[in-house]
Amino acid sequence: MRRMVCLALLTAVMVGACSRSTPDQQAVNDAAEALGGSDRIQAVKTIVIEGEGTLGNLGQDVRPDATGQTFTVTGYRRAIDPAGGRARTELTRSPNFQYFAGQMPQTIVQGVDGEVGYNVAANGTATRTLNAAAGDRRAEIYHHPITSVRAALDPGATLTNPRTENGQSLVDVRTAGGVTFTLAVDSGTMLPARVMSALDNTNLGDVVVETTFADYQDVDGLQLPGRLTTTTDGVTTADIRVTRQTVDAEAGDLAAPAAAASAAPMAGPPPATVAVEELAPLVWLLAGQSHHSVLVEFEDHLTLIEAPQNDTRALAVIAKAKELRPDKPLTQLVVSHHHFDHSGGVRAAVSEGLTVIAHENAADYLEAAGKRPHTAMPDALAKAQRPVNVEAVDGERMLMDKTMTVNLYAIEGNPHADTLLMAHFPRERLLVVADVYTPGAAVAPYAPNLLENVRKRNLRVDRIVPLHGKVVPFSELVKVVPVAATN
Ligand SMILES: [Zn+2]
Repeated sequence: MRRMVCLALLTAVMVGACSRSTPDQQAVNDAAEALGGSDRIQAVKTIVIEGEGTLGNLGQDVRPDATGQTFTVTGYRRAIDPAGGRARTELTRSPNFQYFAGQMPQTIVQGVDGEVGYNVAANGTATRTLNAAAGDRRAEIYHHPITSVRAALDPGATLTNPRTENGQSLVDVRTAGGVTFTLAVDSGTMLPARVMSALDNTNLGDVVVETTFADYQDVDGLQLPGRLTTTTDGVTTADIRVTRQTVDAEAGDLAAPAAAASAAPMAGPPPATVAVEELAPLVWLLAGQSHHSVLVEFEDHLTLIEAPQNDTRALAVIAKAKELRPDKPLTQLVVSHHHFDHSGGVRAAVSEGLTVIAHENAADYLEAAGKRPHTAMPDALAKAQRPVNVEAVDGERMLMDKTMTVNLYAIEGNPHADTLLMAHFPRERLLVVADVYTPGAAVAPYAPNLLENVRKRNLRVDRIVPLHGKVVPFSELVKVVPVAATN
């Protein structure tokens, strides 16, 4: 379309007017000029951004709507090679809250090189990410004024839907490589104000990831933002203040590490394995690679505790439950807490017709999550189109019939989450918990509160069934709680 307009205009006016012939192109051209000129932008080979700031804790805060937990970021360094479709980010993050992995700073190294997304562990081992994560990182390359405008200037790009909103000119861009984003240009300064990408989130479905640019400064004749703030579905996930940035300086090796580059592409999570262990008559641990579930048999139905991670995991667990007890319907799912890794399979459970039982502080979120659109990457529930039914637990709830009793209790006052339920089996003296105690973990910051909750309710427990790690005697929990905390 753009070219046709240009050809028509060429006969009558000078070439310069051609590029200003449509509003979509004009927003891009204005932005290019404000940033330092299209020639200068197109000549950029690398950008290196150093800084500090904060990261959010999306999906892992104490409540679904809480945003108080952040990580302080130091040593932030992001190198981008726009022409090569490569970017690499290194940072060190320290939790400003009581974190399950302890308070020690963690260094994160991750990148993308064309189709290959990769992470580099602390010991230097590189692994390839899922294709979806690589796609997110390819999209993120354009979350910068230079890369987004550079891509929009490319004759192979498609610009559509020019519009004005709140003093900004917006245009949808499809890059020559097929990545889509929306560029918003400030109508006053003509500088890019933000870039938005429509992406998929396992728990939230369709989300907009948006990066806002502020505090522009001159760097070698280019205007570059001194602050980049990213939100996911409206929640701040990164806020970086630039301390130093360079254009075309030494960017380091941005090629994917060999171990990641040579690994096979992964269209989805690896297949889920479910290891069955009978914990007591009518109670089974359905153990996973990292996240477990528990199956409970009642007189006329089955109840599942936990549908973690994603469709792949949850559907494998549900299939195993049906295989173990094919003659009884699986009707209920108990959710330990709202955290994304523990609730990522709730939609899959709903797609299988299960009623969801959750802490009252998690109920609204889970119900809303069950209704959200997942058009970018349709999941099992998007395909099944079943209604979500969530039952909220206020303090405690007893699941009981002639053959089985399971008592669900809210874990009160635990800094890990305000949405936690524990499941106590009074006859079997089992206690099922997630995250608040993981046997063998280096630190156990939430264990004192768990012990307090168990004692407050006078629960008799012989074995703890953690949804991470191994089943252990109750005495193991007592051992990791400092004596002072129990007084
Ligand atoms: Zn958690």
